[in-house]
Amino acid sequence: AKFEDAGLHPAMLANVKLCGYKIPTPIQAYCLPSVLKGIDIIGVAQTGMSHMIPRATQTDSVAGSGKTAAFLIPTLSKLMGKAKKLAAPRPNLTKPWTREDGVRAEPLILVIAPTRELATQIFDEARRLCYRSMLRPCVIYGGAPSGEQKDELRKGCDVLIATPGRLMDFMGHGHLLSLSRVKYTIIDEADEMVSPDWVDEMASVMKGADTNADDDHVYMMFSATFPKEARAVAKEYMSKDHIRIR
Ligand code: AMP
Repeated sequence: AKFEDAGLHPAMLANVKLCGYKIPTPIQAYCLPSVLKGIDIIGVAQTGMSHMIPRATQTDSVAGSGKTAAFLIPTLSKLMGKAKKLAAPRPNLTKPWTREDGVRAEPLILVIAPTRELATQIFDEARRLCYRSMLRPCVIYGGAPSGEQKDELRKGCDVLIATPGRLMDFMGHGHLLSLSRVKYTIIDEADEMVSPDWVDEMASVMKGADTNADDDHVYMMFSATFPKEARAVAKEYMSKDHIRIR
């Protein structure tokens, strides 16, 4: 498989090359064509805490499976083709934002990740892959003041990478964030997030992201294991003809 033959947007192909990626990793070879066709994916990926291991001590030439790019490349590429039509509204930055200015952040891609470290890593990769496109990624996570994160959202957000707690918190502010335009929902390292409240939290996130319940909404879920809570969420939201990648 080659990136050149995957049907990617030219801007995405250029960014993939800038990142130094020459050939797709196995998980990318599976995810690219499927996501481009709009098929849901359940990825049974390597152990959840790989991001905790310093890169230098990982032995493979590609540290990790390339899972992040596997979900970012095809989803961002799709949006690049429609960027003019789809891009989130950009605020008038010449005057201060007020509540009357309405909803600012209306992301098209939503990535939920368990930790600040992982969310930040995904954000860094998203930023590189969005280079020279109209798409703007933002990251929100707990354990840090929310002011700066809110300011970033208000500048426009097409790709939102979030930890669950901060996402729930911001969703409580209807004027700050709306998930009604989300087309791609990705849950990364789902088993790291499973808790008694998780199913309910996910249900409300997914419901928010599912209001444009057209059938082309794509869900992707990655997890090392599938405890019953994760299975319940997958069953509720994944279409029957999803594919499973190991
Ligand atoms: P991940 O498994 O998503 O954490 O990615 C692990 C590392 O592999 C990251 O540093 C990526 O930038 C890198 N990577 C992802 N895809 C490729 C690829 N096709 N070729 C080379 N490196 C890659």
